[in-house]
Amino acid sequence: MAVLSAEGITFDFEVPVVVVGAGACGLVAALAARDEGQEVLVLERDETPSGSTSLSAGLIPAPCTKLQRQAGIDDSPELFAQDLVAKTHDHTPYDQALAAAKAAGPMIDWLMETHQVEFELVTGFLYPGHSRLRMHGPKSRTGADLEQNLLSAVSNAGIDLITGASVEDLYVDAAGLVAGVRFRRPDGAQEMLGCKALVLACCGFAGDVDMVRQYIPEIADAECCGHLSNTGDAMKWGAALGAGLADMGAYQGHGSVAHPHGLPLTWAVITKGGILLNLEGRRFSNEMRGYSEHAAEVAAQPGHVAWDIYGSPGEEAAMGFHDYRELRKLGVVKTANSVDELAAVTGLPLDAVRHELQALQDAARTGEPDRFGRRFTEDEVLKPPYHAVKVNGALFHTQGGLVIDTQARVLRHDGTPLPNLMAGGGAARGLSGHSNYGYLSGNGLLSATAFGRLAGISAARVATADT
Ligand SMILES: Cc1cc2nc3c(=O)[nH]c(=O)nc-3n(C[C@H](O)[C@H](O)[C@H](O)COP(=O)(O)OP(=O)(O)OC[C@H]3O[C@@H](n4cnc5c(N)ncnc54)[C@H](O)[C@@H]3O)c2cc1C
Repeated sequence: MAVLSAEGITFDFEVPVVVVGAGACGLVAALAARDEGQEVLVLERDETPSGSTSLSAGLIPAPCTKLQRQAGIDDSPELFAQDLVAKTHDHTPYDQALAAAKAAGPMIDWLMETHQVEFELVTGFLYPGHSRLRMHGPKSRTGADLEQNLLSAVSNAGIDLITGASVEDLYVDAAGLVAGVRFRRPDGAQEMLGCKALVLACCGFAGDVDMVRQYIPEIADAECCGHLSNTGDAMKWGAALGAGLADMGAYQGHGSVAHPHGLPLTWAVITKGGILLNLEGRRFSNEMRGYSEHAAEVAAQPGHVAWDIYGSPGEEAAMGFHDYRELRKLGVVKTANSVDELAAVTGLPLDAVRHELQALQDAARTGEPDRFGRRFTEDEVLKPPYHAVKVNGALFHTQGGLVIDTQARVLRHDGTPLPNLMAGGGAARGLSGHSNYGYLSGNGLLSATAFGRLAGISAARVATADT
């Protein structure tokens, strides 16, 4: 991964806008650039595009969409931006959060209306930290379907996508203008591609163990459930180009990945009164703080695992998720009709489990926060049948990266934009603060799709201005 001089270089062919990476960010950027009237080419390292996007639940938070209005939900970009910034304890700049929040609603409507990408609004429960129902996703709630729908849209728009094309080097002139890239095919052959603008949509560094250990040591020993082709290339090139990197310690973890199956158990079960017990049968946190910060919490428990315990409301909410239905088919979800049975199916100490369930009832009766600061209503108190899934904490993807402005242009250390380099999604600094607690549900795909569209528009305009 190098940045090399473009002087004297000739390219095999040239396309005005080149996009590196065919996840949600790259595909949305390509559609946006094409809609601006530019020819676009997407280069993807994998033989079959999937990315982190396919591993996700495919849910994108967006205010003021047509779907949200039809559901009678009163929301605004400002309210959403406040939710984003509050989750990071004011670390993420408000203008960046507002740029994403303003772009997200029109982006969903545009994908639906112009490119026939299907979305529905997720109703029934609020993700922690979101003050409105604003999650949009495919009916199946799978990122695999989101990715497939975006790939279809790209194909229908006549955009070329080369798979098995791993971008290795960028060629840059003395002014910092990216003149093209070199990519390698699976058989080792190399090709030189010129461009007028480049979009880095090749996500973060979850797949580079050394970078994870360097920037996020707390999660380096946990399981990585991310997309391993994401090896931090955008940051490596950006650093060589003098671009700013920020929030490199930020990541999306998940404190509820079915063990050892590796499928995420939706946090919806927690929002419906569910709790986490460690192998000693004890709770260890306020689960409502969010799933990301629980990755390190669960990894720090005895045996690096915990049990998710929830009741019928949690089960009903979870059944809307494809991954949950898969977990059920695999027999991962244990069910118990009494506390004794719950202790037996999980192997947890009966006295401790009984004590914790009693404590929930006490908290609900008094209405006071419990010892971790979580409140329970009478409706949320767990009742039989109980459901239980053994989980571990995992790293999903990283959230730090290239500093971009509100038009997704990559910025140098001094805050000036590089002339023709854009980034979004996991390649760019996200909206999740600098650590594990700032990740508001949906931040990954929000950053990918909202900044992906802005990156595509900016790239097309730069390319047009250059012709
Ligand atoms: C298990 C899991 C669950 C998640 N759940 C959610 C969720 O519900 N909601 C949410 O908002 N976010 C979720 N996320 C995060 C979300 O998936 C990501 O933030 C988002 O998909 C990032 O999109 P992207 O396009 O930037 O990256 P990706 O989708 O990862 O795409 C990047 C692409 O770039 C390619 N690439 C990398 N380097 C190169 C190179 N040098 N040359 C060519 N190609 C390259 C990769 O192969 C990859 O296909 C989840 C992530 C995981 C792992």
